[in-house]
Amino acid sequence: MLRVGLTGGIGSGKSEAGRRLAAHGAVLLDADKAARAVVEPGTPGLARIAETFGPGVLREDGSLDRAKLAQIVFADDAARGKLNAIVHPLVQDHMLAAEQAAVQASGDGAVIVHDVPLLAEGGRGKEFDLVIVVDVPPEVQLERLAARGMPADQARARMAAQATRDERLAVADIVIDNSGTLEALDRRVSDVWTTLQSRASGRRDTT
Ligand code: ADP
Repeated sequence: MLRVGLTGGIGSGKSEAGRRLAAHGAVLLDADKAARAVVEPGTPGLARIAETFGPGVLREDGSLDRAKLAQIVFADDAARGKLNAIVHPLVQDHMLAAEQAAVQASGDGAVIVHDVPLLAEGGRGKEFDLVIVVDVPPEVQLERLAARGMPADQARARMAAQATRDERLAVADIVIDNSGTLEALDRRVSDVWTTLQSRASGRRDTT
C-alpha cells in the first residue's frame, strides 16, 4: 500500500488531479467528506452529538443542523472541544476503515490518495509515504477561480490565507504542473500514476 497526500492551493486543480488519479485506480479519500459521513442520520456520531448538544441541533428530518451546531461551538471553546472529541476519532476510524477496505480490494499494491487542502499549512507531510503538490502560478489560480465565478478580491484573500507557492513546493515529492491544458494534465497524471504504482509494489522509479 502507498499512502499519498495530495495538495495544492485553491484553484490549482487538485480536485481535477484527484479525479484523474481515482480514474486510474487510486482510492481517493477526503477528510471533509468523512466528517460529513460520520454524522449522517442514523449514525452513532449524530446520536452522540444530539445527546451532548440537545435535540435543537437536529432538523425535523433528523439530519444535523450545521448552522445551529456552528452557533453553539463558535464562541465556546469547551463545546468545540466536546464536538471535536466526538467527531475526530470517528473520522480517523472512517479513514482507517476505508484504507483497509482498499487494501482488501486491491492488495498490497493499493494506492490511497488523501485529498488534503491544507497539508503544507498543517505540517502534515510526514503522515504520508509521498506528497504530491498540484502547482500553478498565482495568476493562473486567479484566472481559474474567476472562471468558476469567484470574485477576484475573495480569491486573493483565500490565497493569502494559504501557504505560499514556495512553501507548498517545499513539501512536494512529486509536483504536477497544471498550468497547461486539461489534456496535458491527463498525460502528466498518467505518468505520475505509473510512478505511484511502482512505488506501491515496492519498486523505485522517479518521475
Ligand atoms: P482545486 O480543487 O485545486 O481548488 P479544481 O480542480 O476545482 O481546483 O480546479 C479549479 C477550476 O479550474 C475548476 O473549474 C477546474 O475545472 C479548472 N481547471 C483545473 N485544471 C485546469 C486546466 N488545466 N485547464 C483549464 N481549467 C482547469
